[in-house]
Amino acid sequence: MKKDMIITREKAFKLIKLIQDIVNTRDLSMYLGDYLTKEKVEFEVNLSGVSNGFLSEVIRTITGYEVEVYGEVEELFPCPCCGFKTLTERFDLKEGTGYDICPYCGWEDDGTTDIESYRSINRGRILDYRNKISNNANKYYLNKWLKE
Ligand SMILES: [Zn+2]
Repeated sequence: MKKDMIITREKAFKLIKLIQDIVNTRDLSMYLGDYLTKEKVEFEVNLSGVSNGFLSEVIRTITGYEVEVYGEVEELFPCPCCGFKTLTERFDLKEGTGYDICPYCGWEDDGTTDIESYRSINRGRILDYRNKISNNANKYYLNKWLKE
């Protein structure tokens, strides 16, 4: 398919944030926000680590232009639940890092890798979250995040 233009990731981020400020953020959040909660009134788009293909898709959807996005994708850590590279830090009890909430599946990383283990912080097991993904496939954008 012919591309109207080729832009860097940085420009793609700027463009999406600019449009986000102009259009109804709630409409856009339906498209971009994977785990928007009621408490989270302020809508924030976190595009760090998403694939260039996803950025192209977002820009095509909101502008109608075929745009090819290029640039190195920010290196994130894989989520222990869905396996997509979505986490900004690795869980480390000693360092006190982690507890990132995966923007794809919603799992909060507490260091667990046992899929059968019930975690009160997540009110469920990794297995439950994986079932949720497979039962609601349309709610998830498979090309958004990268896997190892
Ligand atoms: Zn995940």
